[in-house]
Amino acid sequence: MFHPELIERATRARHSPDAGRNPANCPALVLNADYTPLSYYPLSLWPWQTAIKAVFLERVDIVASYDREVHSPSLDMKIPSVIALRQYVRPSEFPAFTRFNLFLRDRFCCQYCGSPQHLTFDHVVPRRLGGKTTWENVATACAPCNMKKGGRTPRQARMQLQLAPIRPTNWQLQERGKAFPPNYLHETWRDWLYWDVELEA
Ligand SMILES: [Zn+2]
Repeated sequence: MFHPELIERATRARHSPDAGRNPANCPALVLNADYTPLSYYPLSLWPWQTAIKAVFLERVDIVASYDREVHSPSLDMKIPSVIALRQYVRPSEFPAFTRFNLFLRDRFCCQYCGSPQHLTFDHVVPRRLGGKTTWENVATACAPCNMKKGGRTPRQARMQLQLAPIRPTNWQLQERGKAFPPNYLHETWRDWLYWDVELEA
């Protein structure tokens, strides 16, 4: 389901022209040559300078633009808000192993008790017992559960993981991500980020 708050935010954005926006706040959403985002997590965004340079190098096509213009002695140009690569880049199947992505895999909930509060990272097999910092050995845990578990395995601590930690594919993470949209989405980005957004009448 599409996040109602996000739609509201996007609607607000539509009524506030971004002509006066600081160019530093005008990143371009980068799409692959098939018009899917190059990456979701993190969202593939380029600073405006990089986007404009790529336009001039003819590496990308402009799909949408901000109202904000940049000026140089030789040209005035609207800052691109969505660009598409001309050459298809094969996306990696697996997302980067980052804190955000790990929380996202675990739906921002403690994997022992389900709490969304005071989240930390737990090494399922503790480091002192040879546990590695990998997708398969790190789980989201609230601070009290992490404390209670201490330097023990779940079995030793008699604590049950709700799900065994796995290395998610990009697709799995994308599915999770629909419930946790990024804080900021320019109105021109939405069409390219979610296929299941309801079409406006
Ligand atoms: Zn917990």
